[in-house]
Amino acid sequence: MNTQHPIYDMVVIGGGINGAGIACDAAGRGLSVLLCEKDDLASHTSSASSKLIHGGLRYLEHKEFRLVREALAEREVLLKKAPHIIRPMRFIMPHEPHLRPAWLIRTGLFFYDHLGKREQLASSNPVEFSDADSPLKSNITKGFEYSDCTVDDARLVILNAIQARELGADIFTHTCCISAQQEHGHWQVQLENEQGVQIVHAKVLVNAAGPWVAEFIQKSLKKKSPYGIRLIQGSHIIVPRLYTGDKAFIMQNDDQRIVFAIPYLNKYTLIGTTDCEYKGDPNQVEISQQEIDYLLDVSNDHFKVQLSSSDIVASYSGVRPLCDDESDNPAAVTRDYTLALSDEEEGFAPLLSIFGGKLTTYRKLAEAAMMSLKPFFPQMTKAWTEHAVLPGAENFKFIDYLVAEIQGRLKGVDADIAYRWAQAYGTRIWQLLDGTTKMQDLGQYFGHGLYAQEIDYLVEQEWAKSSEDILKRRTKLYLQFTEVETVELELYLASLHARRAQGDAA
Ligand SMILES: Cc1cc2nc3c(=O)[nH]c(=O)nc-3n(C[C@H](O)[C@H](O)[C@H](O)COP(=O)(O)OP(=O)(O)OC[C@H]3O[C@@H](n4cnc5c(N)ncnc54)[C@H](O)[C@@H]3O)c2cc1C
Repeated sequence: MNTQHPIYDMVVIGGGINGAGIACDAAGRGLSVLLCEKDDLASHTSSASSKLIHGGLRYLEHKEFRLVREALAEREVLLKKAPHIIRPMRFIMPHEPHLRPAWLIRTGLFFYDHLGKREQLASSNPVEFSDADSPLKSNITKGFEYSDCTVDDARLVILNAIQARELGADIFTHTCCISAQQEHGHWQVQLENEQGVQIVHAKVLVNAAGPWVAEFIQKSLKKKSPYGIRLIQGSHIIVPRLYTGDKAFIMQNDDQRIVFAIPYLNKYTLIGTTDCEYKGDPNQVEISQQEIDYLLDVSNDHFKVQLSSSDIVASYSGVRPLCDDESDNPAAVTRDYTLALSDEEEGFAPLLSIFGGKLTTYRKLAEAAMMSLKPFFPQMTKAWTEHAVLPGAENFKFIDYLVAEIQGRLKGVDADIAYRWAQAYGTRIWQLLDGTTKMQDLGQYFGHGLYAQEIDYLVEQEWAKSSEDILKRRTKLYLQFTEVETVELELYLASLHARRAQGDAA
């Protein structure tokens, strides 16, 4: 861990979407930034989402108009910032009059269409299903269709971290902030990783520890948290594709919650999510049998294809770190964010803590964080992220164009591989493929389209260390890799890390 600055302007705790987004925004405004993440980037809530950039139709029912307006507008902004990892998706809501009357849905969709500016996203419309073509049960004959977007959540975090690094930030993964104290008007921060403990200094400390935000204040800073945090578990199951086509379904349930069925990675359907109060350790969260049964029941109530537990290919769980608004119903706890700035003691350095938030609003949250810190950094330049593309979106036209370019340059490359690369890396694929003109140049093959060239790039450029970092968060190939193939990848990684360590020592 070699730090670049005797005293950083800002140390950010947490490499989820909020920490990465703030680090990126701050670095782009000329501040010196260090971000530390105790595990891998996006290894907690930010890779356990429903993977939607959405306004949140159901938040209208909870009167979260500020959040919905901001989130709706962000869809268009983020689509332009990262069109390789974010794409528009149509959502079909089967009409179930006993749950919500048609006038209520129509009113909600009217607001949805008009609350935020829309350029790329089509408006809503009613739909009718013919039994022969519809994947839905024959009693479901009508519904509504509207637009939102889907995102590769983990890669959104990684792209923000790459951009932050390119703007001068130091990003340390597998580095835990174990404590911090205010001293002589700045923070003295203790960071621990496999190399030991190191102290860094910062003018401002940003606590973007997600589910650990309150615990960090209490245990690591020995202070009182200004807000309580509600940990609300949400789980998803992944099953073989339930239906053809690229539309998602939003299913209403008797408990007034909604569950999505979303086309996922061409071969699968992602079904989620749940909302359950969680009291355990956020590191240990996993789907319960009750959640599995709940998701299967909702799906089986709507689709002709009937699922059982044995159809589940994979599942994942995360905890929403929500600001406690004392709501009785976990589904109704506010999804909006709250920023808590504590600079109350004169001569002491400020602490900014982030409570709540959505992937969708991470950029606005980062802007709001920077606004609140403006008095401490009068030299800071103005907001810039709205019109700046994320890495891989530079000169990006559209996916099929990039796929054709890749196939043109790398003779014999499989269309599936070219698609995956285009969607994951955008135009950064040219960095990844640097020095290659033919398939043999990609080095050792590990199966399912993964070659040594990509692994080396992920280790060198994207902080990947383990097979899980590569398969789960950066490529999503974990759904296809067998145990034997994973072991082979791990052996390669061990030798790669050893070579790199030798290179560092030499
Ligand atoms: C089931 C579910 C579905 C969701 N679906 C959507 C969706 O479709 N669309 C959407 O917009 N939002 C969605 N969200 C919300 C969104 O995922 C979260 O708001 C967001 O990911 C929170 O990001 P974060 O950075 O605050 O937290 P995290 O991603 O959890 O990041 C916090 C990081 O801090 C690190 N950390 C903690 N303590 C320390 C320490 N002491 N030192 C160093 N590092 C530390 C942790 O390891 C962690 O990686 C969903 C959430 C859930 C749970």
